[in-house]
Amino acid sequence: MLNLADIKATASAVGFDICGVTKCKNFALDKAFLESWIESGFASDLDYLKRNTDKRADATLLVEGAKSVIVCGVNYKNLYSLGYAAKATNKIASYALTTDYHTTIKSMLKQMCDELKRLCPTLSGRCFTDSAPVFEKRYAVEAGLGWIGRQSLLITPQYGSFVLLGVAIISEQCDSYDAPYTGVGCGNCRRCIDACPNNAIIERHIDTRRCISKATIERDNDALPLHGWIFGCDECQSCCPYNHTSPLCCNDLFRPTFDPTAIEWDKIGEAEFEIHFAKTPLARATLARLKRNME
Ligand code: SF4
Ligand code: SF4
Repeated sequence: MLNLADIKATASAVGFDICGVTKCKNFALDKAFLESWIESGFASDLDYLKRNTDKRADATLLVEGAKSVIVCGVNYKNLYSLGYAAKATNKIASYALTTDYHTTIKSMLKQMCDELKRLCPTLSGRCFTDSAPVFEKRYAVEAGLGWIGRQSLLITPQYGSFVLLGVAIISEQCDSYDAPYTGVGCGNCRRCIDACPNNAIIERHIDTRRCISKATIERDNDALPLHGWIFGCDECQSCCPYNHTSPLCCNDLFRPTFDPTAIEWDKIGEAEFEIHFAKTPLARATLARLKRNME
């Protein structure tokens, strides 16, 4: 059995800003909602969302014998998170200005689990960061970290929505668990709904057919207006009042490694792109896709 305080101390020691722990749960209602959302066409061509909905609802189908879920997060807010100058072009979502978080967070989760295994040698499990069908945000709410905002992202009271999540699904029970989040939430605010330039937000879910973030990264949708974004979109986060009062990131691993306003894209060829951006999330889109997004 693991000790809740030990888990939180270990998460903090490897660099996570927040950590909560909950039991494995069956999210049958969330699965039903996801399936009706897909059925309505809101998932567009994001086929990975349509697969393994059973595993999303029940983590024990993903990790045999799973008992607990550790949800960890890092604040990545930087100087570009609250928006670019008016009429700026070639805008890049602020999470993409540094090393790809999939790599960084997975390494931090591994360090955390290695240390927990030292404390509890029978521990087994798996770590994920956007890399498997897991209701990460739902687990974060159950682990007391925050609530799901109207733009469908996790909002934490300390760091707003500029938080990158990772989860460890583990075989051990804990001596105690965090209580689900019950704070005030969004209240009457609807700023993110009003701020979305393509009206893609429909009360706690997204119509991905209209979402700039999806269109710039995942697939081609040349008809959709991108409003100056070439990779991702922060519009529904930069308007959020919780993000205005949250602190800037103080973890070097998540600070920007380049200035998006200083890149002379017309001088960047494949070789330069490889040198400067291969380890960033931009590599996922490819240089050709980014250049098409500038047109
Ligand atoms: S990422 Fe941009 S386009 Fe997508 S929902 Fe948010 S504001 Fe709208
Ligand atoms: S902008 Fe307002 S409605 Fe949207 S997530 Fe933030 S608090 Fe909630």
